[in-house]
Amino acid sequence: MRVGLPGASWMQATDAKCFWQCGLVHSPSTIWILSKHAAWMAFLSLPMLYTVSSPWWIRRLFPACIWEMPQDIPAVYLTFDDGPHPVATPFVLDTLGAYGMKATFFCIGQNVLAYPDLYQRILDEGHSVGNHTHRHLSGWNTPDADYLEDIRTAGRLISSDLFRPPYGRITFSQLRKLGSGSAPMRTVMWSVLSGDFDARISPEKCLRNVMDHMKAGSIVTFHESEKSMPRMIKVLCYVLDEMKRQGWEGKKM
Ligand SMILES: [Zn+2]
Repeated sequence: MRVGLPGASWMQATDAKCFWQCGLVHSPSTIWILSKHAAWMAFLSLPMLYTVSSPWWIRRLFPACIWEMPQDIPAVYLTFDDGPHPVATPFVLDTLGAYGMKATFFCIGQNVLAYPDLYQRILDEGHSVGNHTHRHLSGWNTPDADYLEDIRTAGRLISSDLFRPPYGRITFSQLRKLGSGSAPMRTVMWSVLSGDFDARISPEKCLRNVMDHMKAGSIVTFHESEKSMPRMIKVLCYVLDEMKRQGWEGKKM
């Protein structure tokens, strides 16, 4: 699985030491997971490879993250990353409004600064927001202090304890620091990655990615970006239709 955006691999070699620093017990099952993880890293280091659903063993390696919501509530949690965006955000808000669904918007601080009215509209229409860093930084390539400072900068614009790491790239150390202190943040990943960012796939494939994996409790990820719009804009209505058909409410986190 690629937890993140194009070119991402789940974890770089430098992060391997995080496993051990994290104090994971070297049990046979842990070693099995890590060896599987190493193979996966090699696979994912190739550009633009990812899986639509997040594997159980990645979830187990990062239990502090929220991957899914309770399945006993008939609801799906749609999330939209990288906005606000002057075209995508109004479209998404209009569409969600037409269906009476709520969602969560993981905003980039710089985009909130550029489009404050759109950010306010997200809140005014009853959706929730989360922090997606100020400059869309990859945690893997950024020292902890700089990464956390960038999140704090975004936090001055985005009032939320929800955080989603850009590209899904975050180290154990960063995750630990974010989840502690006087204002701990909850890190939200996803269970279904639509692949809307992937220009190689058709809208039909993007829709199938979601339809084949979405269920009650799913956290589904879309993007509000130029690159994602050709697919996201075409599939969103079909996804909302299916949620209605299944009796699933669109809930914010
Ligand atoms: Zn992003």
